[in-house]
Amino acid sequence: MFKRILIANRGEIAVRIIRTCHEMGIETVAIYSNSDRECLHVQLATQAVCIGPSKSSESYLRMDRIIQVALATGCDAIHPGFGFLSENADFVEMVEACGLVFIGPSAASINALGNKMAARTLMIAGNVPVVPGSLAPLKSLNEAKEIALEVGYPILIKASAGGGGRGMRIAHNESEMESAYNQAKLEAKQCFLNDEVYLEKLILNPKHIEIQILGDHFGNVIHLGERDCSIQRRNQKIIEEAPSCVLTPEIREKMGQAAINAAKAADYTNAGTVEFVYVNGEFYFIEMNTRIQVEHPITEMITGIDIVKEQIRVEANLRLNYTQEQVNFNGVAIECRINAEDFRKGFIPTPGRVEYLHFPGGMGVRIDSLLYQGYRVSPFYDSMVAKIIVHGTTRLEAIRKMRRALEELMITGFTTNQELLYMIMHSKDYVKGNFDTGFIEAHIDEYLQEGAE
Ligand code: ADP
Repeated sequence: MFKRILIANRGEIAVRIIRTCHEMGIETVAIYSNSDRECLHVQLATQAVCIGPSKSSESYLRMDRIIQVALATGCDAIHPGFGFLSENADFVEMVEACGLVFIGPSAASINALGNKMAARTLMIAGNVPVVPGSLAPLKSLNEAKEIALEVGYPILIKASAGGGGRGMRIAHNESEMESAYNQAKLEAKQCFLNDEVYLEKLILNPKHIEIQILGDHFGNVIHLGERDCSIQRRNQKIIEEAPSCVLTPEIREKMGQAAINAAKAADYTNAGTVEFVYVNGEFYFIEMNTRIQVEHPITEMITGIDIVKEQIRVEANLRLNYTQEQVNFNGVAIECRINAEDFRKGFIPTPGRVEYLHFPGGMGVRIDSLLYQGYRVSPFYDSMVAKIIVHGTTRLEAIRKMRRALEELMITGFTTNQELLYMIMHSKDYVKGNFDTGFIEAHIDEYLQEGAE
């Protein structure tokens, strides 16, 4: 087993990884930027090293410095967390060339899945259902129009190299095609230096359902069930739950198998997530994320499996601790992301100093957070400051627990989205499981009014 792991990240995910490392008897090295000196991950790690100025490109994205620190502090492995360098194949190669272990998939898998069109091609070959659309990058606007006629409008033009919701354009009919095609291409070139685009049918009112995968270096791949992440704003997830309240056991089984096929098609090892859009019993692959995800704790709550621990074990060349038959699902878990943002002012970020802090507790409540009283939330990084995760025997029990946890939660000093989450937890549609990826957009006006009264 590894003796010392460098965590190439910050915030709550760095804290999350440090916790498992210490439970496994592994020492940790934290890295931090100038403005992160007071961060919780810096205080919890065995040791911490400053790697540069606040700007991520000069600190958390500096591959050379991070690897130098890992070597100088005698680390044998690097865990990338999510974001930053976690899906950067060049970083994986550089880490390995320096004799260190990257705790994540291979550079080849990241490359194969990082390009969405390439991933789509791989999935088609691996018999994974994909959204109807083009089978290769689009060669011309005319070709795009022909395929659109075949699959039916509305359609999406997507950048092959896209991510974070960028490089995506909708066309509702043929007259919108030219502008959607040109704009997607332009944005793709500007954001990703690659103007390759492809076409997908726009699935109306889908749920976003994803499957957690784990693979080892002995050819074993298992899935840990699904997460419903449909409550999103502009493609950013806000509330997630596991399992999904709409899947039948047959569809769950099929999706799990499709996700395993997806992982096998990419020779995938370590933790990954296969994302699908789902509507009326049909599901279609949209992409595979080659890292640990923000919402992984809900899967941990219903399976009792520490995903970070499995990630570390796999790269220490151990077999997965579980066979598919040994994965048991218990109850329902929900996660709410607490963001330092003001939903009444167009969701603007509201970083500030924590004046008073009380986290909820009690049975079945887990908090993953970077906050402590007196901590000043940095304006330089992501606005997510805490994740409240609850676990109940039934979905209704989990919802009641989340309401209670949100009632108890007290963060003063800056505005958060706590109230918005609380209103969603009381929404009839949410409680009935009657929601899709358009939920926030459909309800936001009502929430803005409700709280203002
Ligand atoms: P990104 O990598 O930029 O986040 P994704 O391909 O994962 O892009 O899509 C982001 C979100 O957009 C998904 O969670 C889903 O809600 C929606 N989406 C993507 N493709 C489709 C589609 N073909 N039909 C309907 N919704 C889609």
